[in-house]
Amino acid sequence: MPGYEFFGEEERKEIDDVMNTGILMRYGFDAQRKGNWKAKELEQKISETFDCKYAQLTSSGTSALTTAMAALGIGFGDEVIMPAFTFVASFEAVISVGAIPVLVDIDESLTLNPSAVKAAITSKTKCIMPVHMCGSMADIDALKHICKEHDLILLEDACQSIGATYKGKYVGTIGDAGTFSFDFVKTITCGEGGAVLTNNEDIYTKCDAYTDHGHDHKGADRGADLHPFVGYNYRISELHAAIGLAQIGKLDNILSIQRKNHSILNSILSTVPELTFRKIHDEGGNSCTFLSWFLPDAEITSAVVAELRSQNILAGNFYWFENNWHYIRKWDHLTKNGFLNNQSEQLQKQLQKYSANPFIASDAIMSRCISTAISLTWTEEQIREKGEKIAGVIKKILNEKLTAV
Ligand SMILES: *Cc1c(COP(=O)(O)O)cnc(C)c1O
Repeated sequence: MPGYEFFGEEERKEIDDVMNTGILMRYGFDAQRKGNWKAKELEQKISETFDCKYAQLTSSGTSALTTAMAALGIGFGDEVIMPAFTFVASFEAVISVGAIPVLVDIDESLTLNPSAVKAAITSKTKCIMPVHMCGSMADIDALKHICKEHDLILLEDACQSIGATYKGKYVGTIGDAGTFSFDFVKTITCGEGGAVLTNNEDIYTKCDAYTDHGHDHKGADRGADLHPFVGYNYRISELHAAIGLAQIGKLDNILSIQRKNHSILNSILSTVPELTFRKIHDEGGNSCTFLSWFLPDAEITSAVVAELRSQNILAGNFYWFENNWHYIRKWDHLTKNGFLNNQSEQLQKQLQKYSANPFIASDAIMSRCISTAISLTWTEEQIREKGEKIAGVIKKILNEKLTAV
C-alpha cells in the first residue's frame, strides 16, 4: 500500500529544488522561484498519468473531498449516500459542507451495494459517493445508472485506490469528480496532500479558487485577484508537492510490485478451501494494495484474529470489524453526537438512526473479512512464509472447531 516504503534520493532532489529558492508557496513570487512550480507540475503529471482533463491539488484527501463537494454545489441539507465501510474522512467532508451523510450497506465487494443505494434515495438526495476501498473499485456502472435515473451527482472517493482502473478508466476520473489522498500511508504520498480530479472545466475552476480563499488566479499579482465566491485555504505547499512529484514517478513500479506480491499471496491463501476472496468488479483493474478475504463465519474469523495475534503475526492483517476508524460499528463519535459545536436538527436526526445499528447485512460481511496489506518490500520468500503461516492458523482454528463439534 504505502509509497513511504519507496523513499529516497528522488524525493531529496525534488525537495532540494524548493530549498534552493526557499519559495514554499505554490502561488506568486515568480521571479524568486527560478522556474520551480512543483504544485503546478504535479497537477499536470496527475492529469497526464490518470488521463483526466483537470487536477487540483489540496492540503489533504479530506479537504479534496470538501472542495469537490463545494464545487459540485453540494451543501446545506443535501443528502450524500455513502458506504458504512470507509475511512472517517468521507463523512467528515460531507458534514463539513453542511450536507447529510446517508450511510448504507456494502456488499462482498466491500463497496456500496447498489440496491441499498437505491433504497436510500429520497427527495433530498443530491449525490452518491462510492468509496473505492482497499485498492479496489465500486460497481461504477450500476451506480452511474442510478445517478442517471435520479439525476444525481457521482463523486468518487478514490483516496485509497490510486492507480486502480474500472473498464479501462482510472477510478476517480469516471464520475463528475473524484478525489485522491496523498497522506503518509497512501499508494503514493506527499507527506500530506490530496487532489480533486475532474473532466469538467467549470468544476475545476471552482476547485482552483475554493482551495485558495476564492482567488480567481487571473490577476498578475495576488493582490489584484478577484474573489467571485467564498473559499478557504486548502492549499498544498511546494515542499509537499515536490515529494509527490518524486512519488508519482514511482507509481508504475509500485503498482506492478503490489500486483505481483498480491498474486503470490493470493495463490497461497487459495489453498484453503474454506477461504473466499473479496468480489472485484474489474479484476484487471485492482491496484492490489490489500488482499481481502472472508472466512465462513464471525466466530471463526475472530478466533483466527486472536490466534494471529497470539502468534505475533497479526501486524498487517486488518480486521476492520473491530477497527475504530473504518467501520460504523465503532463510530460512536458520529452516532452519539460527538460534535464540538452545534449541528443542524436534520443532521442529528439522521445520525440518531445509526445508533440502533441498522447495518445487519454489512456486519455479516465485515465480521468475516480480513484484509492483508501488501508491502512493497517483501521478498518472495517472505510472502510465502507469511501466507503459509496465515493458512496454518486458519487450518488450526477450523480443525479445533471440527473436533469441538
Ligand atoms: C485517506 C482517506 C481519505 C482522506 O485522506 P487524508 O489525506 O488523510 O485527509 C478519504 N477517504 C478515504 C477512503 C481514505 O482512505
